[in-house]
Amino acid sequence: MSGLVYRLKDIGYSYPYAPARFSLDLDSLEVPDGGILALVGPNGAGKTTLLMLLAFLLRPARGRLEFLGRDPWATDDAAVLARRDAVLLTHHPYLFKGTIGVNVAFGLKIRRLPEDEAGARVRDALALVELDGWEGKPVSGLSAGQAQRAAIARALALRPRVLLLDEPTANLDAALGLRMEAVLREAVHAWGTTVVFSTHNFSQASRLADSILYLSDGQRVEFSHENCYSGTASTDGRTSWIEPKPGVRIVFPGETRGHVTCVIDPAEIRLVAADGGGPVPSGPNVFRGRVSRMEAMDPDTALVRTSGDLVFRATLPLRALEAGGISLSREVLLTFEPGSVRVVGERPAEAREPS
Ligand code: ATP
Repeated sequence: MSGLVYRLKDIGYSYPYAPARFSLDLDSLEVPDGGILALVGPNGAGKTTLLMLLAFLLRPARGRLEFLGRDPWATDDAAVLARRDAVLLTHHPYLFKGTIGVNVAFGLKIRRLPEDEAGARVRDALALVELDGWEGKPVSGLSAGQAQRAAIARALALRPRVLLLDEPTANLDAALGLRMEAVLREAVHAWGTTVVFSTHNFSQASRLADSILYLSDGQRVEFSHENCYSGTASTDGRTSWIEPKPGVRIVFPGETRGHVTCVIDPAEIRLVAADGGGPVPSGPNVFRGRVSRMEAMDPDTALVRTSGDLVFRATLPLRALEAGGISLSREVLLTFEPGSVRVVGERPAEAREPS
């Protein structure tokens, strides 16, 4: 790796005409050449907004964004040129009607690459995504995973300096997701591409990225896990709570008002099988859910994802899972102490709502 691809300083962006108040505020961010950066955060954290800024599709309202040492917004032409070097693959990439080959060669044609060089690039890109020899296949019959891989090949054929991906594995099953991760690693290895991708999946980020930027509510947050919920806090003077969904409360000690983000360490969450016959947890912060994913973090520990009113991730010893009869699809009760809730990202007093 050499040098920096991006350098951001005091960047701010808010959507004009947006009904909900959201602003992305980043004090600093540096992305090294040839590295992989993951943007991790819950829905609405600002991951896509940041990707759009890095793709020069949105212009920062304030602050300084440098791309390869230059201001991409210095002139209109500079932004157009910069966009050639930073290609964004959206959540649901669109393939044109016709064959995979036409799709993958599209950008190369626009850039007027000689035909033999374009052909070689198309072949290389398709080989990388394990679609060797698929040039002539129509896109109409592709599965979601194949279409996603064809879209990545189209982006990779351009050999951009930077590949920006918005939740690249969101529509893929676990096995295809892992293959996609391998493709991204290979692109970095083979062509020195810098990759920035967004994900909700902390394990994927830890597996794939050299560094992770955690975002919540448009702000950088300094922690290394998920279970991150934002809302406007209410208080009775002794305890406070947010309701990420109507009627669903996360309770924490102390008197807090205003907009806050609450974070719960996955290691602090306990799980019991809902119909296991054992004592049913009571008190605040008890949630019902279903185990939607389990994966080994190391030989002794599993990361368990549960879906219910809220999605939680808990890390538990494998022994405890076996002893408690907790398995995939099992209905569970989750609980954590109010004192386990970390409150971060509190807005300044003037932004708080009246009590
Ligand atoms: P997700 O994981 O759900 O995709 P995200 O972290 O990518 O979320 P963004 O899509 O960047 O988050 O959205 C951040 C905030 O900006 C949200 O509150 C969203 O509603 C708002 N937002 C996004 N796009 C626009 C837009 N074009 N106009 C107004 N508000 C927008």
